[in-house]
Amino acid sequence: MLVVMKKDASEADVARVCRAVSEMGLMPHPIPGQTRVAIGITGNLTPVDPQRLAMLPGVVDIIRVTKPYKLTSREMQPEDTVVRVNGVEIGGEGITVIAGPCSVESADQTIDTARIVKELGADMLRGGAYKPRSSPYSFQGLGPPGLKILERARRETNLPVVSEVMDVESFDLVEASVDVIQIGARNMQNYSLLRRAGRSPKPVLLKRGMSATLEEFLLAAEYIMAEGNRQVVLCERGIRAFSDYSRYTLDISIVPQIKKMSHLPIIVDPSHAVGRRDLVIPMARAAIAAGADGVIVEVHPNPACALSDGPQALTPPMFAELMDDLRTIAHAVRRGEKVAT
Ligand code: PEP
Ligand code: MN
Repeated sequence: MLVVMKKDASEADVARVCRAVSEMGLMPHPIPGQTRVAIGITGNLTPVDPQRLAMLPGVVDIIRVTKPYKLTSREMQPEDTVVRVNGVEIGGEGITVIAGPCSVESADQTIDTARIVKELGADMLRGGAYKPRSSPYSFQGLGPPGLKILERARRETNLPVVSEVMDVESFDLVEASVDVIQIGARNMQNYSLLRRAGRSPKPVLLKRGMSATLEEFLLAAEYIMAEGNRQVVLCERGIRAFSDYSRYTLDISIVPQIKKMSHLPIIVDPSHAVGRRDLVIPMARAAIAAGADGVIVEVHPNPACALSDGPQALTPPMFAELMDDLRTIAHAVRRGEKVAT
């Protein structure tokens, strides 16, 4: 349910509605819009009787939200959410490019990569200090020293840092070091982790689970938003299908579909989707052409020596080529504002 307030409703009117909603045993979520405030209501297991709220001063309309996800839906918030991270926007006028290694391997490797991608126009640095690996014998990430390296990379380049948190136990540590908290595909339905992320003051990059439906994806975002964190960025990273030539299958059509159903920004990770560097650039181009708000790509100065995901890492010259292509495509889809350097 969504309570739409009049354009000239006062703060006291909004507070009165929120109080009434709480008294009904439900949760009010005030959503400021460009011209008026709306108040989302969650927590009801059966339809809410709108009469009591409709009578209150300042209320203009009450809308039933038909989807199971509420706070993530366009019905609740027609305007796009723009996530802001230290001067960088995701979901605004332009597109956002997040680039960096799969894993933080050393200070030199991370800071060299950060400098290279910054020079070539990236907006943010990615790099995992905690790595979810299929094998327990593979490199698992540097852990806390890796977070310190990311902090140094941010100090030296001024790029905001995106890094993955794998569990509730390490959440505080990751949260303190990074600018955007990544929740990986394997954790998309880890509800205690999602709830913890919902209580964080930092934006969350939520990757689609490799077998998640669109509804499950949006409901995972709903877990974060229901705890109060509105700064959620969705990320399509490929799903399991029967491809025998690529790591996963990039579901590009989810981008325009999510744009219809949700106000949240959505970016695309072509690197994990295809798992081969020769396919990353074409898929990144396709993502921006399809309306994605940005891409997150893996870049390594020497992919042959990478401790994880070397085969899908772009080399610096390939990343330069990608940035050129994205500038052209962003202009073509009228998203050229920010990426033009
Ligand atoms: C990653 O971004 O390094 C990663 C492990 O991604 P995903 O969760 O999409 O597999
Ligand atoms: Mn990776």
